[in-house]
Amino acid sequence: MLLRVGIGLALMAGLCPGGTEVWNLGELGAEGKAVKAPPKEWRLPQGASAIEVVTVHAAGLAKDAGLAAGDVIVGLGGAPMLKKTEPVYQLVDYLETTAASNKPEASLAVRRAGKPETILVALPAAPAHAASCPVSCARCDALVEESMAALAALQRADGGFAFKLSGITGETVVTCLAGLAFLANGSTPDSGVWAGNIRKATAFVMKHAGKLDAWMPDGKVDGKNYNATNWALAWGSLYLAEIQRLAPAQEQLDRMTEWMQAIEKNQELSGGWGHGPGGVNGTGYLELQASGNVQLAALGALRRSGLKPSKAVIDRGLLYLNACVTAEGGVRYGSDEKYWLGEPGRNAGALWALALLEQQKHPMQPKLAAWFRKNLAEVPEGHASPVFHLTNAAFASHHLGDAAWKEYASRFRLEFLASRRPDGTYAARPTRESVAQKEEGTDDFVGPAWATAAHLVIVQLRRGNLKVLAGAK
Ligand SMILES: [Zn+2]
Repeated sequence: MLLRVGIGLALMAGLCPGGTEVWNLGELGAEGKAVKAPPKEWRLPQGASAIEVVTVHAAGLAKDAGLAAGDVIVGLGGAPMLKKTEPVYQLVDYLETTAASNKPEASLAVRRAGKPETILVALPAAPAHAASCPVSCARCDALVEESMAALAALQRADGGFAFKLSGITGETVVTCLAGLAFLANGSTPDSGVWAGNIRKATAFVMKHAGKLDAWMPDGKVDGKNYNATNWALAWGSLYLAEIQRLAPAQEQLDRMTEWMQAIEKNQELSGGWGHGPGGVNGTGYLELQASGNVQLAALGALRRSGLKPSKAVIDRGLLYLNACVTAEGGVRYGSDEKYWLGEPGRNAGALWALALLEQQKHPMQPKLAAWFRKNLAEVPEGHASPVFHLTNAAFASHHLGDAAWKEYASRFRLEFLASRRPDGTYAARPTRESVAQKEEGTDDFVGPAWATAAHLVIVQLRRGNLKVLAGAK
């Protein structure tokens, strides 16, 4: 239990992590790992990469085609994989292009036990992606609808979604994200296909945000503080702000007011926030910048809902954020200079918070934005929960405007297609950190709802349905 709680805290923070080298291979029904330097005896051209198939699903395109674990994909459509991008991106790009061609049959050159073979994969015919992909793209829209159904199927009778870490706090956060995915799809609490799912998610969040599990009523395990409720208070506020706009109710406003007061009270003297109240946590530190980002974003969303969060709290929060910014413009894990030199996913969280607080003219904003855009490619390498970094980056890019959004969407379009499993759920991808840890990635470990809800919020963000969190004001 201690380990579970500890890891849960870490995940929310971006501290601890996990992962193997394995990528989901898009629609193929297989998983594999990138081979950046194939053996010389295969005589591939200089700079060619490959993908080793690690798992073939019991049913699916790969299975039907006879692809097997251990096969190494070395060519796509008769050509070696020579692009400088991630080999998994190249595979997915090839599969999507081939599915949209007049002969939707993929030809994979593989090495099986060292010997060359050709595997032909019959792909379901699909429309080509639009130039505006993933926005107004018929192919992506069809994939989104299937994934929405897959997400809905993960919702429990009590309205919540499973999350393997941090108990009720983790479940509340992922339920907020799932609720946002239903809203992003265009449903409201009163209308649309997912109205019932939204109402159930809302009831769950209203009941549990800020509450502790019965097994840790004082937030402590073995005398150590594992209270992580700040995450649920903030995400609950972000989610309910959207609900309140669409279907106002006094009970919701009362709950948002309670959460706002708790967020204000839980601010540390530094101006930052920890995982929860109660002092130094069981992992040995107090505040972390990533929590501060989401608390500030929540206060901005609450203010957009007509509440009046304390200006003094927000000002102190911004001062703490400023203290976490490096000379180059990256945002560190915390204000202490011992922390590494910034991660664009943290810049993104800060930029989103500044946007919701109407602080785009804050003196630190241009520096944060420039560093974020310069380091965009590194977002999925973010500490602990890359999916969380990607989500923040989507909101940040949206608020930075069309050019930034285009950079984001084109950079990660193939990443999102690769992460999407044939059953409609999304997988997390390996990172340098998860590879070094030699464990299943935390984003996957917590269960499929997390990555699936996050990706669905991201790919539908520009549909314009999240008017508080992604609106101009
Ligand atoms: Zn598309």
